[in-house]
Amino acid sequence: MKAQSALEFVAEARTGRIDLEENTHKILDKVFASEKYNFFNSVSKDLALHQAKELNAKVKSGKASGKLFGLPVSVKDCICVKGIESRAGSRILSGYLPVFDATVIAKAKAEGAIIIGKTSQDEFGFGTFSANAGLGFKVPKNPLDFERACGGSSGGSAGMTAFADFPHVSISESTGGSIACPASFCGVAGFTPTYGLVSRYGLIDYANSLDKIGSMGKTVSESSLLLEAIAGHDEKDSTSLNEKISFSPAKSPSAKGMKIGVIKEFFGQGINSGVSRIAWDSIKKLEKEGAKIREISLPLNAKYAIPAYYIIAMAESSTNLAKYCGMRYGAHESLSGSFNEYFSKVRSCNFGEEAKRRILLGTFARMSGFRDAYYLRAMKARTRLINEFKTAFKDFDVLVNPTMPVPAPKFSEIEKLSPIQQYAMDLCTVPANLAGLPHISINAGLLQKMPVGIMFTAGHLQEERLVQAASALEALK
Ligand code: GLN
Repeated sequence: MKAQSALEFVAEARTGRIDLEENTHKILDKVFASEKYNFFNSVSKDLALHQAKELNAKVKSGKASGKLFGLPVSVKDCICVKGIESRAGSRILSGYLPVFDATVIAKAKAEGAIIIGKTSQDEFGFGTFSANAGLGFKVPKNPLDFERACGGSSGGSAGMTAFADFPHVSISESTGGSIACPASFCGVAGFTPTYGLVSRYGLIDYANSLDKIGSMGKTVSESSLLLEAIAGHDEKDSTSLNEKISFSPAKSPSAKGMKIGVIKEFFGQGINSGVSRIAWDSIKKLEKEGAKIREISLPLNAKYAIPAYYIIAMAESSTNLAKYCGMRYGAHESLSGSFNEYFSKVRSCNFGEEAKRRILLGTFARMSGFRDAYYLRAMKARTRLINEFKTAFKDFDVLVNPTMPVPAPKFSEIEKLSPIQQYAMDLCTVPANLAGLPHISINAGLLQKMPVGIMFTAGHLQEERLVQAASALEALK
């Protein structure tokens, strides 16, 4: 029997045919049974059951409404949920219980979502495999192969989405590819919106000019259902756009007549040939259905996006992390010495290795004397990279490439990669993120039993085109 989709579940829950408390109990049992995969940093059992009870009462009083009514939703650890420990996967935030909900959580709750827990991630989002978990945190394992990574940094969200045999979606976050990458490694749909479309109020920030909250689901329609529910203007986030767009999938999706640009550089050097082949197979299917396919070259993005991104991301993150001084929230140590000595002690004991590396490199890139040579230069390069995309979108509706250069690697392979080699893995996902462009990754097929993702990118606020192309491909499978 085909599993019930999130949309079907919500429709049924609203009629009252599902006892939501009973259902939530069952799901929490499954969540606890999945413990060995480390998808969660914390499970919000009491909150979930409390919400389920309230929603049951709403059904009884004839007030059942909401796009996510009764739906189990997991949330990346870096997004604040009131009263639930929110640590962004870092020991430095141990014990931090937000006194408010992030806007996306308030919106999801208002639509009837049931929050089941906080998913595991790289510390503050610093990574591509969720293997840079903070001190004392566990690394999520790929549900399709325990020896392999879920991808990062929203690894727990993707792992849980693939693992769940019940309707479930996940609120995740991407700075430089953290939704698309794990979606690709776990074989699910990951939807990253235009920068500013979804409020970041209540997001524990990584790099402010890059962070975007997005969604994951098993299918395009599940991920768009969630994204539509959490998107929209928010006066509490000064970068929030005042736009209302709708991107529900069409009943019979088709890519007929769509102009699709195949990014040449992301099928060549550095990309596993099996991955390229699987992505091309999907593109050919779309062509057969009437899409107009042409290759396009993005030489500047292929060459400069990774260095520009890592300079900007590290510079911004190093300033963001300065607020973790062991005084205001999160981890504390016994008070001794001067402020600087105490500050150093707290940070040495509570940040993981990758966070320390990024603080050092990011601070260097912002130091007087180096700021012009690194940070400001990277910002100028960014403008040129955005313009390269803008030119491409004069000729195309969407662009396409394999999401990741390889299928999910084994942990034993990741250990052998230097930091630079790990950063280089983001080759195909960083450009769209740096340019703030919406993109979606869906599964294109399997290579030696592991999923291979294909990614569509559209112009700013053109989410609807992504839904059209991705659901057309999904329908052809
Ligand atoms: N892998 C990228 C990084 O380490 C992206 C992570 C993210 O999007 N949070 O910065």
